[in-house]
Amino acid sequence: MQYVKGTPYFCKKFKKIKEYPYLNNDITTDVLIVGGGICGAILNYYLSQKFDIVLIDKGRIGQCCTSCATAILEYQLDDFYSKLKKEFSKEEIIDIYKMGINSVNKIEKFIKKYGNECDFYKRPSFLYTTKESEYKLLKNEYELRKNHGLKCEFFDKHNNPFNFHIAYGIYAQNGGAELNPYLFTKQLIENAKNQNKIFENTGYESMIQKEDYIEVRTNYNQIINCKRIIFATGFNLEEFDNQDIIERFTTYTIVTNKLKDFEWFNRATIHDTVDPYHYLRLLPNNQIIFGGEDVPFKKSNMTEKKAMSKYKKLYNYLLTMFPMLKGKIEIEYSFCGCFGATDNNLGLIGETDTDNVYYFLSCGANGIVNAMYGVELMENLLKNKTDKFEHLFTPLRVLNK
Ligand SMILES: Cc1cc2nc3c(=O)[nH]c(=O)nc-3n(C[C@H](O)[C@H](O)[C@H](O)COP(=O)(O)OP(=O)(O)OC[C@H]3O[C@@H](n4cnc5c(N)ncnc54)[C@H](O)[C@@H]3O)c2cc1C
Repeated sequence: MQYVKGTPYFCKKFKKIKEYPYLNNDITTDVLIVGGGICGAILNYYLSQKFDIVLIDKGRIGQCCTSCATAILEYQLDDFYSKLKKEFSKEEIIDIYKMGINSVNKIEKFIKKYGNECDFYKRPSFLYTTKESEYKLLKNEYELRKNHGLKCEFFDKHNNPFNFHIAYGIYAQNGGAELNPYLFTKQLIENAKNQNKIFENTGYESMIQKEDYIEVRTNYNQIINCKRIIFATGFNLEEFDNQDIIERFTTYTIVTNKLKDFEWFNRATIHDTVDPYHYLRLLPNNQIIFGGEDVPFKKSNMTEKKAMSKYKKLYNYLLTMFPMLKGKIEIEYSFCGCFGATDNNLGLIGETDTDNVYYFLSCGANGIVNAMYGVELMENLLKNKTDKFEHLFTPLRVLNK
């Protein structure tokens, strides 16, 4: 099954990630990470400072779903708190939002250390509706955030500073950030401590639990003996007979030409509340990247014909949003990819029902932000410490269903 189709903008135009060899001998390590997308790269960068880590990827690093993420980094989740009430207490949702803000700050710290080679910029975020009937939905969410110290403003059609129509919207000043996900992965991988323990074109095939270690076999029949194994394989779950643990969707994206004399309020990252929702941001060179029109992930939804009709729909929607761009925008890139969703909008991060086997699978619209926090969680678990958010991310919540 192919997880990405089309021409992903982020890895097409930019400096390529350095090539790593394939594994051609047997090795031993404390922790094996399977998967070198943005999540595996985040995990590998931080954990390799404290543990003996080997990372393998069955293909090239950063070339799967990572290459087509819009990379809007926000603290808000896919659903409003009112929809997630069953999943979280009020205190928990606020903690999760604050965790999101801290994750963005952590990326900023990394960028300060290594330089901004991945177009990282902090941005406000804007979540809006065009439906009058959704007043209460947005107002309640706004009140919740404001009452818990999250800086935000409520806009309606009378004080709307954006150059498109809204009924209501929540504008979060320190709502998030944006970056180039492929170049961020490049920086993470190339600055990791374990340079001679990263292997591309090396696929995980199978494992056998031994008394005090795990024996992993690769696609070229090499053996990796490890104490723990972490699957950061994104949504490629076929190998593990667990493809049903995450609900998967295909999401479609277009990137326009560079736009002259065009911007919106403070270059905020934007989401609407349509079902399925749309999301957009302005790239640093003033191209719009616009995504959405999600459908369940299956082969027939990734055919050229289906994808073309979705790109056209996105293009028309963009023009409805910004009628002043009529005759000025063209689609320069179009692509689609797979993303996962869970009931509580959070990824599956933590120990599975098999001893010493962990998942590090990000989900939802802010999977990258969650992965930044997930590193702390994973570090605690590897040190046999408890973590405040363990119960919210644990894979057991779906494996035990
Ligand atoms: C169009 C689109 C827009 C998105 N927008 C956003 C956004 O704005 N913000 C956000 O936070 N998230 C967004 N996402 C989600 C984001 O892309 C994912 O959360 C993130 O890329 C997942 O990264 P990953 O490393 O887990 O997966 P991937 O990038 O898919 O990497 C998984 C890696 O595992 C490797 N692998 C798989 N199986 C094996 C095996 N058996 N052995 C060895 N290696 C293996 C693969 O080769 C691959 O390199 C978006 C996703 C899509 C598709």
